Amino acid sequence: MPFEQLGLSADLLQAISDQGYTTPTPIQEQAIPVILKGCDVMGGAQTGTGKTAGFTLPMLQRLESYANTSTSPAKHPIRALILVPTRELAIQVYESVKGYGKYVALKSAVIYGGVNIDAQTAAVRSGVDILVATPGRLLDHLQQKNLVLSKVEMFILDEADRMLDMGFLPDIKQIIQLLPTHRQNLMFSATFSEEIKKLAGKILKDPTLIEV
Ligand code: AMP
Repeated sequence: MPFEQLGLSADLLQAISDQGYTTPTPIQEQAIPVILKGCDVMGGAQTGTGKTAGFTLPMLQRLESYANTSTSPAKHPIRALILVPTRELAIQVYESVKGYGKYVALKSAVIYGGVNIDAQTAAVRSGVDILVATPGRLLDHLQQKNLVLSKVEMFILDEADRMLDMGFLPDIKQIIQLLPTHRQNLMFSATFSEEIKKLAGKILKDPTLIEV
């Protein structure tokens, strides 16, 4: 099935074509239409399957179709939160968001630990629609009141199994508490342990299960 049949907007199809992609990967073919409908998704997918585009493209489209009417960038609340386990993945996902979203008028930022927090503070305080974050650093910024999560429409937990392996469960639980109850959730994990299923039960509502 070509990308054109997945229901993506012209802006996104152009960005896909700029990347040189001709055919969606299996996870993209399955996940994109379901996410566009607004459903929660539990995706079983390894790195290298194209899962980043699989959630980023429909996320951009959903945010674009419910444009934020606020004229002041400072009043821009975060509308999509993508939580990832590592700094490397944070940077990689952020680059994808920027690449696929190059024709879409949405602001994004990335925050991760291990670097000075002040440089990131100005970026998040200026107002962003999409935030890519590692859990610990996100909590630091929340504590400093640099951002709020009360308007998050889409919550994405990427590489959930690695998150648990790295001991992020308490941080994730704390972050979920700060999200509005009405939101769309996407969770990705390469493996499905009992802990992952338990976490999925806490986060997802009637999820569509996609395994590739
Ligand atoms: P990911 O699994 O999201 O880390 O993506 C793995 C790699 O596949 C990345 O380098 C993407 O740029 C690339 N990729 C994603 N989707 C496609 C596609 N439909 N066709 C070709 N390459 C793709």
